[in-house]
Amino acid sequence: MINRMVIVALDYPSPELALQFVDKIQLDSCALKVGFELFLSGGPRFVEKLVTQGFKVFLDLKFHDIPNTVAQACSVASKLGVWMLNVHASGGSRMMLAAREAIDKHDASFQPKLIAVTVLTSMNQDTLSGVGGEIEHVVAKWAALAEQANLDGVVCSAQEAASIRAQSNSDFMIVTPGIRLPSDNQDDQKRIVSPSDARAAGVTHIVVGRPITQAQDPCAALEVFQKAFISA
Ligand code: C5P
Repeated sequence: MINRMVIVALDYPSPELALQFVDKIQLDSCALKVGFELFLSGGPRFVEKLVTQGFKVFLDLKFHDIPNTVAQACSVASKLGVWMLNVHASGGSRMMLAAREAIDKHDASFQPKLIAVTVLTSMNQDTLSGVGGEIEHVVAKWAALAEQANLDGVVCSAQEAASIRAQSNSDFMIVTPGIRLPSDNQDDQKRIVSPSDARAAGVTHIVVGRPITQAQDPCAALEVFQKAFISA
């Protein structure tokens, strides 16, 4: 059984701005997601700084390349001591297996969770058209491939979480961005779900960015999401 957790997407343009938020929160209140923007401005040393402070860091670089290249990237990323890494499921089974093997070669304390991105939550059936198939089927197929490749979970929309929960083991992580309270701005997300509906669908981790990072009081906003997803 996995403990539910909120992951805050630290989508800030600089480490200094990210730290203004990070310095105010409790270590165990959430995990922190470092994506392209912050990784490119703060680099691996900034990631290590968060890890050294004791934070669980989800390095969201969504690797997608030939198996050998992705495996090498996962191996180097593992050495940063991050809690979780991700690859695109559309990179295929061989790529996911290579990533898993590369991570498993490290000592246990440097073996991050490895999850696969299915269909981005900013996409819908219109934007996916031409790629092939109904979103639900594509997501279900990629989630099954990820589990067969021994990945720890998937990133998907909470709208697909219930069917993935039904087809997967209970320890398979379901990580969902596109989470909004009814009062929040939808931004560029297309398939959004509330924290309580995500919980009901079997989601294990919600990823929340702008509703927390751009709130007047980000710590108070984090607490609202925690209550709605974890303790309600
Ligand atoms: O601000 P917002 O809550 O929309 O941020 C969602 C975060 O989750 C962003 O950092 C985005 O890159 C990430 N993400 C996503 N959809 C995915 C995978 C990651 O929105 N499928």
